Amino acid sequence: MEQTFAIIKPDAVSSGHTGAILQRIEEAGFRVAAMRMVRMTKAEAEGFYAVHRARPFFDSLTTFMSSGPAVVLALEAADAIARWRTLMGATDPGQAGEGTLRRRFGSSIERNATHGSDAPETAAFELGYFFRGLERVGEPVPAP
Ligand code: ATP
Ligand code: MG
Repeated sequence: MEQTFAIIKPDAVSSGHTGAILQRIEEAGFRVAAMRMVRMTKAEAEGFYAVHRARPFFDSLTTFMSSGPAVVLALEAADAIARWRTLMGATDPGQAGEGTLRRRFGSSIERNATHGSDAPETAAFELGYFFRGLERVGEPVPAP
């Protein structure tokens, strides 16, 4: 089993798509290991996207990500990192495949509804940025 880090971004939360996206996550077989609503500060968004510091869209992206509440999640499944990125679709909703979350819920390359870690190293950093280890709950222990 693998965990990945996901965000339902402020555009999707403010347009009322949180529940629909959570339903798609569960229907796709991910176990929600942790979940919280957060209103990131600009500085917190800048820390999260530090790898993109030099990109031309950095200021706009971090302003958007701190513009309203988002939902942060730890998702668990076999091959969770790759499978979550497949479910999200391409970064640009206009390029994202039929049936993907970004195609359905995204409105621009920036306001693209969801985030997902792109590798085990980034998943570890991103999960740790938002969740303490204890918050990422394991499966319940079966009764004896
Ligand atoms: P994410 O990291 O959010 O899962 P991604 O890995 O598909 O998405 P990145 O290249 O890591 O895409 O970009 C991070 C985020 O920055 C994108 O999800 C999007 O919100 C924004 N972004 C990416 N490219 C652009 C662009 N050309 N113009 C504006 N915003 C962009
Ligand atoms: Mg990325």
